[in-house]
Amino acid sequence: MVSYKELGLVNTREMFAKAVKGGYAIPAFNFNTMEQMQAIVQAAVETKSPVIMQVSKGARNYANATILRYMAQGAVEYAKELGCPNPQIVLHLDHGDTFELCKDCIDMGFSSVMIDGSSLPYEENIALAKKVVDYAHKYDVTVEAELGVLAGVEDEVSSAVSHYTKPEEVIDFSQRTGCDSLAISIGTSHGAYKFTPAQCTRDPKTGKLVPPPLAFDILHEIEKKLPGFPIVLHGSSSVPQDEVDTINKYGGKLPDAVGIPEEQLREASKSAVCKINIDSDSRLAMTAAIRKYLAENPSHFDPRQYLKPARENMKKMYIHKIVNVLGSNDKL
Ligand SMILES: [Zn+2]
Repeated sequence: MVSYKELGLVNTREMFAKAVKGGYAIPAFNFNTMEQMQAIVQAAVETKSPVIMQVSKGARNYANATILRYMAQGAVEYAKELGCPNPQIVLHLDHGDTFELCKDCIDMGFSSVMIDGSSLPYEENIALAKKVVDYAHKYDVTVEAELGVLAGVEDEVSSAVSHYTKPEEVIDFSQRTGCDSLAISIGTSHGAYKFTPAQCTRDPKTGKLVPPPLAFDILHEIEKKLPGFPIVLHGSSSVPQDEVDTINKYGGKLPDAVGIPEEQLREASKSAVCKINIDSDSRLAMTAAIRKYLAENPSHFDPRQYLKPARENMKKMYIHKIVNVLGSNDKL
């Protein structure tokens, strides 16, 4: 058993309480590679932002959970080396689907876990979440649970249709599970194709797809029922058009990729939403930089040559999110 506290990590409790009060949201960035980890830490240190580094099922399959845990430990030490004496870094399990997996992560040093029973019947979702909460809280690990189903594809998590969270269920659910935060479904979606063209309208000037707006009425109803309770938004990449254009210009094929407009995320950050998950935007930033570099330098083959601009581009994106969308800068 390794406690996250020995590793210099923190749980989300205090971080979320401050974020809800302060009207901003904590960035939750997924990571699979060293370059992503470095870019996240550099961005968080330079902007003085708390940060959640999260590990999905796909990341565990790709990089191995033990390696990722050591990378998170390395992230804390790296942040200190970059001049941040007390970094606020959470290592979070994204979309844990069983009690055993959540327990494994808690036992190896994760400071926060998500138990995603959102596809289960209501009572089963509660029972599973409560079991995880009871175990996690013994070790002061915080737990995110989910109510409502997001559409889209994220690693092995996928659903063709979304079911908005029912505000009438949130009090009962949060009380009976004892969860520390709640992921809700109000129209965000996993992946780089959050909406089909049929769900969108087209901007007559640019011809670009305009996605349907988030259901702020549901968010506000939930806030009224659970004043001050930390709310989480998954699937909140914006799918920046310039990165998509770069990818397509240099041989990629991502027609009609569409995300959540940043103005809407900015508005959500000011509410009880205190954690916003961003994964696809990092993938796009990395791929755009690599495609461009390799197209412009066809004779280069040292991975460091193309991973360096990829890392820079991700860092630029992370800083932009922290400062211009979530508002979590200067909070350390
Ligand atoms: Zn998710």
